[in-house]
Amino acid sequence: MSAPLVIVGASHAGVQAAVSLRQSGWQEPITLISAETDLPYHRPPLSKAYLAGEKTADQILLRGEDFYAAQDIDLQLGVTVEEVSTQDRKIRTTGGDLPYSRLVLATGASARPLPTEGADLDGIHMLRDMADARKLKTAFEAVDRLVIIGGGFIGLEVAASAAKAGKQVTVIEVQERLLARALPPMLSEWIAGHHRSKGVDIRLAEPFDRFEGENGKLTGVRLKSGERLPAELALVGIGSLANLQLAEQIGLECQAGGIKVDDVCRTSALDIFAIGDCASQYNVFAREIMRVESVQNASDQARVLAALLTDKPIPAPGANWFWTDQYDLKFQMAGLLEADCEEIVRGDPDTGAFSILLMKNGVLRALFSVNKPADHMAARKFIAAATPLNAQLCGDAATPLPKAVL
Ligand code: NAP
Repeated sequence: MSAPLVIVGASHAGVQAAVSLRQSGWQEPITLISAETDLPYHRPPLSKAYLAGEKTADQILLRGEDFYAAQDIDLQLGVTVEEVSTQDRKIRTTGGDLPYSRLVLATGASARPLPTEGADLDGIHMLRDMADARKLKTAFEAVDRLVIIGGGFIGLEVAASAAKAGKQVTVIEVQERLLARALPPMLSEWIAGHHRSKGVDIRLAEPFDRFEGENGKLTGVRLKSGERLPAELALVGIGSLANLQLAEQIGLECQAGGIKVDDVCRTSALDIFAIGDCASQYNVFAREIMRVESVQNASDQARVLAALLTDKPIPAPGANWFWTDQYDLKFQMAGLLEADCEEIVRGDPDTGAFSILLMKNGVLRALFSVNKPADHMAARKFIAAATPLNAQLCGDAATPLPKAVL
């Protein structure tokens, strides 16, 4: 039997690659390796429906248990790849050695640690995988208050889940506004206002100093200002770092914090590919090499790779898009935040349903919407195709966005 195509990492990118390869007619063996012991699952619900107890682990699986065997995908759970020998085309894993025909690194990212005094106290959590989520959920259910370090996606989603559960929540953000890398200032302010209206204490430009505890247990969070916030539970959500250990061991070229890949996800080594959160790729919209952490990016790169390996037409790059659900609000982002754009507000923010458009030279570059899914869907098409739009009509919420096409 021929050596399998081996995919390292079984989250959104890795699983989609295996699925798309089979859908595209890949006949050779596929081995999908995960260091986690859980069946592959959707990550977005971990900070929301799973934490809130609205969905169980079984209800957020990417695919049913039988799917992998039915698709002849050899899913190996609880197995870590320790070393890759490109010369012998072999990997050494905790489950034994394995040859490979092609190697796909879908190793993802890890939560960025906060190395500080008190960081090893009981009660300090990160949220990246199911094991983290299980621990956080148990601790979360037992406390009435928590402090969140980092006003990013993880922090705000957990803050919303906690506020909904009636807990007292403080969010400490070092920047002057929330989600500063992802959102325009007006939306950052709007989101901060919304959280505050739900009772969340949002602290901006507030440097964190250290954790404090007694008998190995967290008792509070000390800010640089000297203020102490009592807490039995703290969540650190200050970004992520790509998992590059294997790439570095192989000697792959890395850039912008990820494994550098070309437009079809090839790394600098023959027959080794990288997809998802661990990969850095030239982004045709941002015009720079970057790591994009999103389900859409992971899935799209997986589909591109499957097309490449099965000699199918390569899908054209679509617009980047993201979403985050907080309270009863659906925030959707199409495109990437960009400087020097004309900003157009579409609809009344006070109604809780509106969009902010960023336009440049008559073309939509990004659209950020709150409870406006139709705007989001239209924007994805217009951004990808660089469709010229009438800016004035874009600003008129009564005019459907497609009617603004010139
Ligand atoms: P994030 O969205 O990058 O936000 C982290 C925030 O914490 C940033 O504003 C960051 O500021 C701030 N920060 C950094 N160091 C800090 C410190 N010492 N004290 C206080 N604030 C600090 O990262 P995240 O929320 O941890 O999420 C991690 C990743 O999970 C995301 O990048 C994303 O891939 C994924 N995720 C996505 C979604 C979604 O798309 N809906 C939801 C959850 C998670 P700087 O920007 O200055 O570093």
